[in-house]
Amino acid sequence: MIAMNGNKKTIVIPGDFLGYSEEYLPGKNTMEVNSKIISASFGEVVKNDRELVASVDNGIRKIYPKNEDIIYGRIVKNDSRQVSIQIVGIEKSGKVEKYFADGYIRNVQDYKRDERKVQTIHIGDLIRGRIIRVGQNLEITLNGKRLGVLKSRCSRCSEVLVLKNGALFCENCNRSEMRKIAPDYSAPEFVEMER
Ligand SMILES: [Zn+2]
Repeated sequence: MIAMNGNKKTIVIPGDFLGYSEEYLPGKNTMEVNSKIISASFGEVVKNDRELVASVDNGIRKIYPKNEDIIYGRIVKNDSRQVSIQIVGIEKSGKVEKYFADGYIRNVQDYKRDERKVQTIHIGDLIRGRIIRVGQNLEITLNGKRLGVLKSRCSRCSEVLVLKNGALFCENCNRSEMRKIAPDYSAPEFVEMER
């Protein structure tokens, strides 16, 4: 149950008074000081009037990645031995949540070069991948219909590559580059994922 103050949610900062300890038990993100329950976090007051617990929801959710989850990330290393990914988002219940973790692609040769010996992913690329193994780092694959590069920059001049006749093209250098692109390459929502 969310405590109502009129019709507004009650937002508190650390040190704010939530109630007396004879009314409520101190819940999550609170502490008890001299029979008063005090917020220990920034967040929204949640008073459970059935169990008589006052707590503060600070909005931080623990995310547990699992196999088949879709992730978003940036290629940070791509050499003959390893492709490393800085993961920045994960899809949970159809929504992209912020999520930071390290990932890697093991079967590098699948994406690194195609039969024409051109690179199909590049350092800096924003990708959508799928988790195939959960360990200390997450193993990622780009094999799948929705998967691949979402945004990429020219390896020569760093301009954002645009999709032209099914291939990626740098309008600055007037040349194309090969990537394993996702079907929605350069959709506007991915521009803001760039940090
Ligand atoms: Zn260029």
